[in-house]
Amino acid sequence: MKFSKYLSSAHIDALVLAIVGLGVWAFAIENDAYEAFHDFLMANEDYELDEILVALVLMGLGGFIFGMRRLKESKQELLLRREAQARADWLSIHDPLTALPNRRYLSSLKVQGLKGTLGTSHLAFLAIDLDGFKRINDLIGHAGGDELLKVTAERLSSQYPNAVVIRLGGDEFLVIVDAEEFGRASGMAAAKNLITTLCEPLTISDVQVEVGASVGIAIFPDNGEDIGELLHAADVALYFAKRSGRNTAAFFELSMHQDVAKRAELEARVRTALQEKSIAPYYQPIVDLKSNKIVGAEVLARWSARDGSMLPPDVFIPVAEEIGGVVALSEQLLSKAATDALGWPEDVILSFNIAPTMLSDRLLGKRIQRVLNETGFPASRLEVEFTEGALLRETEAATTVINDLVSGGVRIALDDFGTGYSNILQLSELSFSTIKIDRKFVDRAVRDETQQAIVQTMIDLATRLGVTTIAEGVETAEQRDAVLNLGCEFGQGYYFSRAVPSHKIGQLFENTDTTLQPELAAIKVAEAARQAK
Ligand code: C2E
Ligand code: CA
Ligand code: CA
Repeated sequence: MKFSKYLSSAHIDALVLAIVGLGVWAFAIENDAYEAFHDFLMANEDYELDEILVALVLMGLGGFIFGMRRLKESKQELLLRREAQARADWLSIHDPLTALPNRRYLSSLKVQGLKGTLGTSHLAFLAIDLDGFKRINDLIGHAGGDELLKVTAERLSSQYPNAVVIRLGGDEFLVIVDAEEFGRASGMAAAKNLITTLCEPLTISDVQVEVGASVGIAIFPDNGEDIGELLHAADVALYFAKRSGRNTAAFFELSMHQDVAKRAELEARVRTALQEKSIAPYYQPIVDLKSNKIVGAEVLARWSARDGSMLPPDVFIPVAEEIGGVVALSEQLLSKAATDALGWPEDVILSFNIAPTMLSDRLLGKRIQRVLNETGFPASRLEVEFTEGALLRETEAATTVINDLVSGGVRIALDDFGTGYSNILQLSELSFSTIKIDRKFVDRAVRDETQQAIVQTMIDLATRLGVTTIAEGVETAEQRDAVLNLGCEFGQGYYFSRAVPSHKIGQLFENTDTTLQPELAAIKVAEAARQAK
């Protein structure tokens, strides 16, 4: 701006000079100025005025050339500044990596404008988030991660050539596209098609990479009036898609808003519970099926909220995992449980559950070891339970963690065995010492011979591998007898006892007839009452 002003003032100066020059010229003609001047020079030859005049003329000429050159330079400078300005303007609304417009650009858009640009009355807003991007980034490095983002940007742009494709940040993208071009009529099929495109494997620095993608879809005018509302609706749908697993798409629905609000409230409550340490360990005995002796106890997290409500762990633990609080929770629980268990008979094992997401933490083994050191609880009395599903998904990370634990003397149990459709051999490289047969199978063991044969096979194979078996969810004497007859050594379930708080577990150790415990008596009374109805 300033430069253009400078330029125009230069023009004005030139004009003024030209006018003055013309004026002087006209005046000189009128008055025969040169002749008068010449006569004056001739008359005063001693002053050397003519030489001075020649010098002045030459200096004027030099000055003119100097001015022209400076003018040219400033023109070039101006050009450079304009280019830099244009680049800065571009950068402020684009992502330099993928060259896609960014969030700031999005905030400058209007639905009306988009309708015009895309030539349609219905717009589809696709919020896209890559699944497992962080892990790939760790695997192939930052440059590799950048490459993957570039490829994703290209895939989106070529899938919808007329769309506005925006990188919202990280591994999040937004596509605004004519709803017909997206394929709204075919609904989920169109979304799946997009996911398939994004998930196509590719090779980056010689590593074959397979990324996943989740998509949340909002439609204008159905799901919102302005960009803000539509983006929010697509985000809410994306959140639902993410929670239903990898490579999923979801169309926005109004009820999702309520669910999100409920979820946010639950997250806030779990945060408070974690801060106030109001989630406590309860203990469910593990019993020797032959002698009825308690050989161990599993830590089960219990949360009694301030309003008196009890929330089950399968609700709050996944929330704690999602809000990143599960490591802190686990440390609190393990530390309290180890301290409690120091007061138990010395041959009783403490079983502790590890949430699936914690397996990706390679330091997990060290963290557990640290709690053991702090509390003075012997590693040999601790058994850590991993679910079969988590081990299958995270085999590599799990190997590190398990090796750390095993070398520290901790035992490993395979939880919910039979639900992950693995076979024991597949997992036998991981050095676990116990399998816990899921309660579904315990239930089936009393049904028919085929089901019994399945459970029998599991127990036989485990026994041959030298692995201890625990039957989970034993609720009746019939189930207990069935698993005992099939060769299972240990059992756990309401038949023996529910999980009890720390001050009650002591009574259970004293009571050798575990089938006569107060908790069990209460259940039996309740059961009898139900049957009597
Ligand atoms: P799980 O590890 O399979 O734990 C056994 C679950 O079965 C417990 O439910 C227990 O109360 C229940 N159960 C025990 N005996 C019987 C029975 O005879 N019949 C029936 N129907 N159920 C029985 P709970 O305490 O609700 O825990 C559910 C899941 O939450 C656990 O499954 C475990 O995966 C997770 N969990 C519980 N506490 C913790 C914890 O401290 N840390 C982690 N990471 N996960 C935990
Ligand atoms: Ca368990
Ligand atoms: Ca289990």
